[in-house]
Amino acid sequence: MKALIAGAGIGGLTTALFLHRAGIEVEIFERTDAVRELGVGINMLPHAVGLLTKLGLLDALDAAGIRTRELIYANRFGQIVWRELRGIDAGHAVPQFSIHRGRLLGLIHRAVIDRLGQNVIRTGCSVMGFEQDGSKVTAFLSEAGRTLQARGDLLIGADGIHSKVRAKLYPDEGSPIWNGVMLWRGATRWPQWQDGRTMAIAGGNHAKFVFYPIGNDPDDPAMRLTNWAVMARPRETAPRNLTLGDWSRPGELEQVLPFVRDRFHLDYVNPTEIIRATGVFHEYSNCDREPLPRWSFGRVTLLGDAAHPMYPVGSNGASQAILDAHCLAEYLRTHGSVEVALGAYDAERRPAMAQIVHANRKGGPEGVIDLVEARAPDGFDDVEAVASYVERERVVRGYASLAGFAADNPKGAGVGVR
Ligand SMILES: Cc1cc2nc3c(=O)[nH]c(=O)nc-3n(C[C@H](O)[C@H](O)[C@H](O)COP(=O)(O)OP(=O)(O)OC[C@H]3O[C@@H](n4cnc5c(N)ncnc54)[C@H](O)[C@@H]3O)c2cc1C
Repeated sequence: MKALIAGAGIGGLTTALFLHRAGIEVEIFERTDAVRELGVGINMLPHAVGLLTKLGLLDALDAAGIRTRELIYANRFGQIVWRELRGIDAGHAVPQFSIHRGRLLGLIHRAVIDRLGQNVIRTGCSVMGFEQDGSKVTAFLSEAGRTLQARGDLLIGADGIHSKVRAKLYPDEGSPIWNGVMLWRGATRWPQWQDGRTMAIAGGNHAKFVFYPIGNDPDDPAMRLTNWAVMARPRETAPRNLTLGDWSRPGELEQVLPFVRDRFHLDYVNPTEIIRATGVFHEYSNCDREPLPRWSFGRVTLLGDAAHPMYPVGSNGASQAILDAHCLAEYLRTHGSVEVALGAYDAERRPAMAQIVHANRKGGPEGVIDLVEARAPDGFDDVEAVASYVERERVVRGYASLAGFAADNPKGAGVGVR
């Protein structure tokens, strides 16, 4: 069996590793001229880390990222709304990792090259469309101005939020949907905070400030490569010729600083200082797409952001692409027919992902700080009087169950904020 994969992102490359392990031949087509280690911080939830561990990548994850120990939700004054342990510290069998997206992509890419060979990825080659008959699928490719074809038993569209494979299946869908919120993101060297394994999300409806370490500093144990993000709704409805869903657009200080300057008073970091210290950072329009009625059509299916682009809240984008990859490869390994395997993958993954897309639209687990800010915009003396433990737990843990990463016996939930 041979699988054609459109896109060498985290989803496409992880799929290649699982298919190879299942004895299935793959060929990957990547639009850009090289697999570049782009992006900033990303979180890998334990269920996805468990799958990467099956692929033998735990040591590489440890070398590249940080085992997240605790997540703190706070208001804009740094008053704690909710805190919980994560990963192994929360009772999971494997860690949660906070990691640079480029380093994560790099370590998966190196595993693909080592195991499948240099020639398995054809860079500078876009999948433009496909045709299928009862026994094969033909992908139409564009490479250096030439039109080429590749034939395989199945085609997996792992080509991201602007997927050409999805556009061929749903030609009338149009652009991603923007909810009016911008996300500014950057990473820089910064002094370690607490144990160097703690993540914090502060603020509320007006603006959120996210802060977490994503890598050790080889030259200085007191420093961390630290990720920050600001999520806020600018007044303009379409700032400066926005390209929806563009992860690489540079950010501008005068756009982001008004959302944090004089607003956040956190004892662990001054947001203005870390943003100014970062140099180049990026802005991203918070986009998703409407969940689809179907991903798999005969020998063609969708995976990762091509299948279920979602707002980047709740740490699910890359993790769910990895879960897709494993699920699809398992069905292909165990079912004789490609069509049946792709149908089973669709039936298992699609409804679950639609629920997360909808939950992220409501704010995801970060909804807990929105709730508290709406009721106590100037801070509180007792969080319990603003929102009860049970109410806050419902927001955070309800999301974890939905996204499939709730620990069976959570340890440390809500410590100190009852
Ligand atoms: C440059 C970049 C930076 C990112 N930075 C962050 C970040 O900092 N934080 C975060 O949370 N998420 C980031 N993301 C998104 C995150 O990687 C995804 O949400 C998640 O990993 C799911 O990955 P995916 O493989 O489905 O999609 P993607 O990571 O988007 O990968 C899709 C791949 O397909 C390729 N492609 C697109 N069209 C075609 C085509 N027609 N033919 C062949 N190849 C094609 C793209 O070049 C890309 O390599 C970034 C994505 C990109 C592309």
